[in-house]
Amino acid sequence: MNKERKLIIAGNWKMNKTVAESLALAGNLKLELANIREVDIVVCPPFTALESVSKAILDSNLRLGAQNMSENNFGAFTGEICAGMLKEFSVRYVILGHSERRQYQKETDKMISQKAKAAHGASLKPIVCVGETLAEREAGQMEKVLETQVRGSLAGLTREQMVETIVAYEPVWAIGTGKTATTQQAQDTHAFIRGVLAKTFDEATAKKVRIQYGGSVKPNNARELMGQPDVDGALVGGAALEARSFADIIKNSI
Ligand code: PEP
Repeated sequence: MNKERKLIIAGNWKMNKTVAESLALAGNLKLELANIREVDIVVCPPFTALESVSKAILDSNLRLGAQNMSENNFGAFTGEICAGMLKEFSVRYVILGHSERRQYQKETDKMISQKAKAAHGASLKPIVCVGETLAEREAGQMEKVLETQVRGSLAGLTREQMVETIVAYEPVWAIGTGKTATTQQAQDTHAFIRGVLAKTFDEATAKKVRIQYGGSVKPNNARELMGQPDVDGALVGGAALEARSFADIIKNSI
């Protein structure tokens, strides 16, 4: 597939997989995907498996991501993990502002922008998630909601940092539900988000930013979604928990 930007496909394992299970999955992915050079491949295990998976994929084309981090760099923040700690395990990416964290941990755009700045401070690439709920879409609020989230969650980043940031568009109604946005809905919304980036930063910066689609991406819909000009990859939940389905998503995307 001929893409303007290199595809980036990330698997979000969420709160699944013991260390042994994580190692088994990482090992299988390493074998399945050894020859893929056209896509940046990222796996995001739970914190407890980062060290083991990091060692397991050291000599491979898989890159490591975390699912969250603190906006603070150190100190009295019980239960939190900071960017510097992730760097110890050669983590390169960090998912920020996933809709589950916005919903259950009440993360705000402001917190997410602080986390994004802290991530860049440690040379981690943030994957910043945005997306509307079904109620917001049906109320005709989608563009307003997305513009607020994009501007708020990326506030204060420099143009250079923005280019090294990945935006994940994940309509909340499509996450884990088996419902996928149509390819046209995905393309239109990605183009809209790129337009917001152009207004917030500038046209040249917006053109370089990779925007992933997330929400029930599967091997059978990956090709069509990735074929859209403004869809630059995927953030995958459920289908990333099995080597075969995650590998097939990647293979079907190139
Ligand atoms: C996600 O949670 O980021 C996600 C896209 O999940 P799923 O692929 O299971 O819809």
